[in-house]
Amino acid sequence: MQQADVIVIGSGIGGLVAGALLARYGKQVLLCESHTIAGGAVHGFSRQGFHFDSGASFYCGLSDPNSLNPLRQVLAVLGETIPAIPYDPFGHYHFPDATLPIYGDSEKYRAAIAAITPQGATEFAQLEKRFLSLYEGLRAIPTLALRSDLNLIPTLIRYFPSLLKLLPNLGLIQSSVGALMDQTIRDPWVRRLIDLECFLLSGLKAHGTIAPEVAFMFGERSRSVIDYPIGGSAAIVDALIRGFKKWGGQLRLGTHVEQILVEATIVKGVRLRNGETLNAPIVISNATIWDTYTHLLQPSDVPTAYRQSALATPTVDSFMHLHLGIRADGLEALTGHHVVVHDADQDITEPGNTCMISIPSVWDKSLAPPGHHGVHAYTLEPYEGWMRDEQYELKKRSRSHSLFRALERVIPDIRQRIVLELIGTPLTHARYLRRHQGTYGAAIAAGTGLFPSCHTPISGLYRVGDSTTPGIGVPAVAASGILCANTLVHPKQTLELLKLL
Ligand SMILES: Cc1cc2nc3c(=O)[nH]c(=O)nc-3n(C[C@H](O)[C@H](O)[C@H](O)COP(=O)(O)OP(=O)(O)OC[C@H]3O[C@@H](n4cnc5c(N)ncnc54)[C@H](O)[C@@H]3O)c2cc1C
Repeated sequence: MQQADVIVIGSGIGGLVAGALLARYGKQVLLCESHTIAGGAVHGFSRQGFHFDSGASFYCGLSDPNSLNPLRQVLAVLGETIPAIPYDPFGHYHFPDATLPIYGDSEKYRAAIAAITPQGATEFAQLEKRFLSLYEGLRAIPTLALRSDLNLIPTLIRYFPSLLKLLPNLGLIQSSVGALMDQTIRDPWVRRLIDLECFLLSGLKAHGTIAPEVAFMFGERSRSVIDYPIGGSAAIVDALIRGFKKWGGQLRLGTHVEQILVEATIVKGVRLRNGETLNAPIVISNATIWDTYTHLLQPSDVPTAYRQSALATPTVDSFMHLHLGIRADGLEALTGHHVVVHDADQDITEPGNTCMISIPSVWDKSLAPPGHHGVHAYTLEPYEGWMRDEQYELKKRSRSHSLFRALERVIPDIRQRIVLELIGTPLTHARYLRRHQGTYGAAIAAGTGLFPSCHTPISGLYRVGDSTTPGIGVPAVAASGILCANTLVHPKQTLELLKLL
């Protein structure tokens, strides 16, 4: 018996977007999430009155109808919105020698750079101009129109006049940010800044990051709005779930899929950890590429060479996390996002050297008890070597030291303010996000390969999420969900939805 038209494994943003759009297209969709909380790397959790983000917290365009954010386009056709609080600057980047406010407002951003390096600011302006021209070109086709099959061609032809705008930037689309930077920027301070901006986005520096990804970020920051969802990142997940259910989707939390069932290279459904079998002609895996091909499929389900090459996809490291509840007295001037680079002589990608800090209760007071702030700080940490043995607690404390040091740069007496302290390791990350080795995602550097599409060698089995094209980050995984959902319906159905934008 068939339980659904489509089974989605995982409620990360990729899985939720694919599931919700397919429900919107009229398919019967069943979404199985292993965790009791939906959202994957965007899920929120609460402790002692503090509401924390588990991962993502930097967003743009959530509350702007003109934003190019694919998530926004999906919410529009689902009939959902996310109330969000706009703010600027985006964050403060604290280098050993200077602190730079990162404004969405281009002029203010350039002026802040000019206060440190006037020549660097001039060079930066040239790079920014190229990014913004690419961003404006990207406006030509809404992401919601895109798909991952040959029907993309008639879709593109329909947008032909607008596509012409992209022509001057065609070269940039495949280019790395590093290649552009080499043409425009000599100033070492600004080169490090660009490396950092790329690293925060893709987990790789400028030469590993593709230009459209950063063009999108610069464009959204300066042409749309930097905003934070009221209720925290969980509000994004809630909005997608509301839309999904409104269009008939069924969500089962605490439902771990043990196996994707395949017969003669055709997908048949899934088997859950509790032994239950669910049948469907289409299964979409939002688990990572490594989890899908290691745990969810049998080695014999896919050609050996394909499996080996999928599993050889390089990974970005995992993370150390700190979630703190702190007293907020005297912190009235505190801002919400900070990035601290400890040592100028060390690479910014070195675990512990670059620390990200997010204090969203600065914008939304309901996220912490009165008079308090909730803090999330994280830094890269390799998974290898971590074990829950007798050394675990000691190692946890020692490896979180760089995060405390980073926080002291922003709130010098932070240690005296702590009322709640949670330290997470790569093991925590892998466990709660159900991700292979707790990885941030695939480290596919620009020029070395492309992120795989939603297709697999198994008929009826598709993949979405940050180890498929276009890559890591909430807007990107939302796009991956769109590409997959559209591929599974007739282009005419997509055209109908586009009328709603
Ligand atoms: C610390 C951190 C900070 C970040 N900051 C930002 C940011 O500020 N802005 C931004 O845009 N992006 C940010 N990102 C990146 C972004 O959050 C991710 O790229 C994106 O959310 C990943 O979404 P996904 O759809 O690939 O799936 P995931 O979020 O990985 O979700 C996959 C889901 O599948 C479920 N699952 C896996 N296996 C099974 C199974 N067998 N059965 C059932 N369910 C299963 C998991 O439980 C999980 O819920 C951040 C990421 C991290 C980790």
